[in-house]
Amino acid sequence: TMTESTRLRIAIQKSGRLSTESQQLLKSCGVKFTINEQRLIAHSDNMPIDLLRVRDDDIPGLVMDGVVDMGIIGENVLEEEQIERQTLNKPADCLKLRQLDFGSCRLSLAVPKEFSYKDPSSLEGLRIATSYPNLLRRFMQEKSITYRDCLLKGSVEVAPRAGLADGICDLVSSGATLEANGLYETEVIYRSMACIIQSTQTQTPAKQALIDKILSRVNGVIRARESKYILLHAPTETLAQIVALLPGAENPTVLPLNDDTNRVAIHAVSTEDLFWDTMEQLTALGASSILVMPIEKMMG
Ligand code: ATP
Ligand code: MG
Repeated sequence: TMTESTRLRIAIQKSGRLSTESQQLLKSCGVKFTINEQRLIAHSDNMPIDLLRVRDDDIPGLVMDGVVDMGIIGENVLEEEQIERQTLNKPADCLKLRQLDFGSCRLSLAVPKEFSYKDPSSLEGLRIATSYPNLLRRFMQEKSITYRDCLLKGSVEVAPRAGLADGICDLVSSGATLEANGLYETEVIYRSMACIIQSTQTQTPAKQALIDKILSRVNGVIRARESKYILLHAPTETLAQIVALLPGAENPTVLPLNDDTNRVAIHAVSTEDLFWDTMEQLTALGASSILVMPIEKMMG
């Protein structure tokens, strides 16, 4: 039928906090495409992949219904939709392939500055504004607290000042929005990152192979982003101490230096960034010519 495609369909957020990084991730995986702002679909030029650009709220449902094969979405939206569909007895399954390294935020309870908050029971019987009624209900049920909903898709943070609610349950990253609205965070109810998901509906072997290939490239891209290539010169007598300071560098390569028997060159892949204070400790141990370089790709 028209809705079956031999091309792999991946849903990403059209515009918002996840869109740039979702596109960037796919590009880093070697998927070439050009976005036309007017178009819902972007066809890849070099792989049998179509990108579907939609509201983030639509992504979990599209994957769970098998309309698209994959999606990149915040865990908060995924989990909210999953609970919603479970209560409605609609298809609610999908495979979370992995968490990604962007889209970090938390869903938190917040109340006006003048509210004296002790614990979640301080909200007993009160009205709470949120765009995440299911995650909020799950949290409040676990604590056996009854409350009243005020469902808002946007402007949740102004609800208390507008007299619509006593508190809110909203996404926070820095807390600046809460601060600007005279609210303070009292409880984190859910921590979220972006994640990549796959539909559970039957894939052709060719599509599954492509999904596996993308996932393995995503793993490589994220591992490379988390790693650094470190080069330095070290005195042989402090070599062991210097190697011990390199974060997550198990087996560095140690090479002789021309015309210098007291010093060696070290090449190491570190699983973390090398911070200034570690660099200073390294120099204190006699290390010199320290280079920290980004890694573009990683495999195997
Ligand atoms: P859409 O128009 O696609 O529905 P939206 O307004 O619902 O967009 P955005 O504000 O772009 O969504 O946020 C998308 C996702 O980004 C959130 O669901 C969350 O996972 C993540 N995120 C990261 N930091 C924040 C933050 N400070 N506030 C809100 N969301 C954040
Ligand atoms: Mg949305």
